[in-house]
Amino acid sequence: MTGRDAGNICPLCGGALESGNATIPFILKESIVVVKQVPAHICVECREPFLAGRETDVITELLTQVKELSSEVTVLTFPEPAFA
Ligand SMILES: [Zn+2]
Repeated sequence: MTGRDAGNICPLCGGALESGNATIPFILKESIVVVKQVPAHICVECREPFLAGRETDVITELLTQVKELSSEVTVLTFPEPAFA
């Protein structure tokens, strides 16, 4: 296991990954944040989305901001790269 080739093969089921946009729910301590239009590699077999490091950084930043809203459910759209 190299763990370095996750860009092409799903680590969960071994299926192929294709680029696309995913809607991903994040469960925080007291709330749920749904982020739409997240650029991700999506498994064609199990539909699990995998994020690149840059997208993970942007989402981490988004979740930090949302925590301060203290809303139980928040739905966001992933920022365009120009605005990120
Ligand atoms: Zn899979």
